[in-house]
Amino acid sequence: MTSQPAAAQAVTTEDFSRNLATVNQKIAEAASRSGRQASAVRLLPVTKTIEPERLRLAIEAGVQTLGENKVQEALAKSEEFASEYPTLRYAVIGPLQANKAKFVARFAHEFHALDSLKLAQTLQRRLELEERTLEVFIQVNTSGEDSKSGIAAGEVAELLEAIAPLDRLVPRGLMTMAANTTDESTIRASFALLRTTLEELRDSGAPEGFDQLSMGMSGDFELAIEEGATVVRVGQGIFGARSYPQASA
Ligand SMILES: *Cc1c(COP(=O)(O)O)cnc(C)c1O
Repeated sequence: MTSQPAAAQAVTTEDFSRNLATVNQKIAEAASRSGRQASAVRLLPVTKTIEPERLRLAIEAGVQTLGENKVQEALAKSEEFASEYPTLRYAVIGPLQANKAKFVARFAHEFHALDSLKLAQTLQRRLELEERTLEVFIQVNTSGEDSKSGIAAGEVAELLEAIAPLDRLVPRGLMTMAANTTDESTIRASFALLRTTLEELRDSGAPEGFDQLSMGMSGDFELAIEEGATVVRVGQGIFGARSYPQASA
């Protein structure tokens, strides 16, 4: 591993400014190692389990998007912050049950865990009602671990084609989570598979703007950037250790 996953608990705006600067510095260095500009990589702060009071400090330190994996928690935050921070953006990054698609359609700007046509169709219907659009990332299981969500790399082309007529969804790219291991070559293999999958889709005519790789978390975002990440989803590196790290939707 190349990074310490968790920062010390951040409790002041200064703490957040410092942690964000540290993460941004590591992003810039990893981008430079892979011959890219730091601006080619977007930091998506993962704010799941962080209560609104602490979030305000992080927002004051520059956080503009909240990455959340539980829909109800995210919806509650979006309602709480609606008048205070009207330009704040919301990214739902965790797996989604179809019966919660209606909530996502209400407030989210990005969804990183699209894994079925049925879910895409449900989101389309709900987005039509809300008169909104949603940027989507198709989640790919690149590690082969049963515990990880996502479809196989070989199934992405078919799903991408099937969602093309759904005009409320804006396909932006692919998302993955690497295996939970300290073995660097295993982690890199996951990220490299996501990159080559995207490259093949682009070679065979993926939609305009379908060019993003959402991969890398606090423990492995530098490896992910070296393997081509354009979005890194970092929680504990900004906010400090969570007591329950992998709470899911
Ligand atoms: C929690 C989570 C992250 C961030 O994990 P950290 O270890 O806090 O950086 C990234 N992606 C997904 C899908 C998550 O659920």
